[in-house]
Amino acid sequence: MEEKKQNNLSVLLDYAGAYKGLTFAGMALSALSMVLGMLPYVCIWLVLRDLISAAPDYSNAVNISKYAWMAFWSAFAGIAVYFCSLMCTHLAAFRTASNIRKQGIAHLMKTPLGFFDNNASGLLRNKLDSGAADTETLLAHNLADIVGTAAMFLTLIVLMVVFDWRMGLACMLAGIVSVGALFSMMGGKNAQLMAEYQAAQDVMAKAGTEYVRGIPVVKVFQQTVYSFKAFEKAINDYSAKAEHYQADICKVPQAVNLTATEGSFVFLVPVALVMASSALNAGNFIQFVVNFAFYSVFSAVISTALARIMFGASGMMLADTALMRISQVMRAPVLPLSHKDLIPAGNSIEFDHVSFTYDGNDHPALDDVSFKVDDGETVALVGPSGGGKTTAASLIPRFWDVSSGTVRIGSADVRDIDPHTLMERVAFVFQNDHLFKTTVLENVRAARPQASETEVYEALSAAQCDDIITKLPDGIHTQINASGVFLSGGEQQRIALARAIIKDAPIIVLDEATAFADPENEVKIQKALKNLTRNKTVIMIAHRLSTVVSADRILVLENGKLIEEGAHNELLKKEGKYAQMWKEYNRALSWKIGTEKEAA
Ligand code: ADP
Repeated sequence: MEEKKQNNLSVLLDYAGAYKGLTFAGMALSALSMVLGMLPYVCIWLVLRDLISAAPDYSNAVNISKYAWMAFWSAFAGIAVYFCSLMCTHLAAFRTASNIRKQGIAHLMKTPLGFFDNNASGLLRNKLDSGAADTETLLAHNLADIVGTAAMFLTLIVLMVVFDWRMGLACMLAGIVSVGALFSMMGGKNAQLMAEYQAAQDVMAKAGTEYVRGIPVVKVFQQTVYSFKAFEKAINDYSAKAEHYQADICKVPQAVNLTATEGSFVFLVPVALVMASSALNAGNFIQFVVNFAFYSVFSAVISTALARIMFGASGMMLADTALMRISQVMRAPVLPLSHKDLIPAGNSIEFDHVSFTYDGNDHPALDDVSFKVDDGETVALVGPSGGGKTTAASLIPRFWDVSSGTVRIGSADVRDIDPHTLMERVAFVFQNDHLFKTTVLENVRAARPQASETEVYEALSAAQCDDIITKLPDGIHTQINASGVFLSGGEQQRIALARAIIKDAPIIVLDEATAFADPENEVKIQKALKNLTRNKTVIMIAHRLSTVVSADRILVLENGKLIEEGAHNELLKKEGKYAQMWKEYNRALSWKIGTEKEAA
């Protein structure tokens, strides 16, 4: 446990980079401020000693004003040094948080795009952002306070020797009891319980988000919160853990801890009572009273210091879980770079004995698939759902890397092409392509930022978006998906197509978009696709067979295997899977027309 904390701390300090020194400077200054802050108590002791020994003729106490000024200046210096300490630790803490965010984003930029299919980018951002923010309390406050408190205890040991070790020990006892109580709550086997409690909290937060997302379904199907069994279970688990932790584990130690923290003098008073009578007998009662006065005033400082240790411990725990979230982001796999930076010779695509299995699956999504698409050819991928069409398409722009075999563009292995060159070569249009919450102009320009407005207009026109632009209040300068301007699914698809058109990449990977297409949109989308794919190498995932008839070649994928390959007519003659799919497709079509006629 201790070692883990050490490691986490050094991980955190590594994020601070050049600002690591500031954290250490802040901790040293905090220790100094603590010692300075204790000096006024020593001055009070000196004043009391002088007054008592000068009584009843107080004019003999000549040094008391000197001690008072010393007390003032050391208190002032203590505050000023603590201020400097906090300046250092805050600067380092903010830099650390900003470095964590920067390094996290830089890391995510290197992950394969497919990673974001299973890990929502919003969730990753949230983990990184909240993780970075949660390290701040530890670095800006707790670390300095912990070191300051340690310095205070060391000074206390020195003072114990100087004044009266018995009363000093009584004051320290409060600290020992309090730290012991804290450890029994958070350390040892309870640390595991604490981790479980935190995990239950995370599960509940996740289930809560799911629930909020599912509210439309709840409303439509007239369900209640109890239908979300997972959420209900997460809440119950969390309450059970929280109750067990608080009632069974924390109740007694926390009561002891708070009593010791707030009333450190309770240990002092009995010790003082025992000592008082022997001091009277020994004739050094005055010395005893001065020492007692010192420790009873001083015990208030111990309470503050112990409270700081408690906050420090919870800051450590917060930082622990924050680092866990951050490391989840940092552990995301990255795309290996070969640095060969090959330039593809042409725009052909070749799959050479390609297999691919998704992480966690035992069945390959693609199994030893080989085919070639020549420069300028249009090839359609068809086959039953789950056959591997989307997977094959995603391997071309390296959404994932193959498990075995090779994907080549213009004879170069895609893994040996510089990622920027690869992205320039390939444009992909998938269903539900994301449009940003900005103007139409910027959405289209996202594919080629240097494009002029005229080029954007041309691309929009080629993507059959003229009608959309005329109806928008500010034309291409209208913000979409905001302030009441929302586009239909089909309209969004056409704008996404304009974005692909303006990119003008020689290779197009296309997931035929059908989800939102009403007949009018359908015609326009088909026209836009024709403009997009003219003179390009095209791989198209086809959902409806009507659109594949004109493809140069059709590849049929089933269960991850390439089972047939050829032009439409050739495949029909083979009377295999494709011919069967075609028959079924036509039967479904005539059935549809039939029912429409009947309805009429
Ligand atoms: P198609 O596009 O032909 O419908 P896919 O390529 O989407 O087929 O899927 C092929 C196989 O890979 C299916 O068994 C599917 O369950 C699996 N699969 C697809 N995407 C993922 C993913 N992100 N994680 C795990 N398995 C996946």
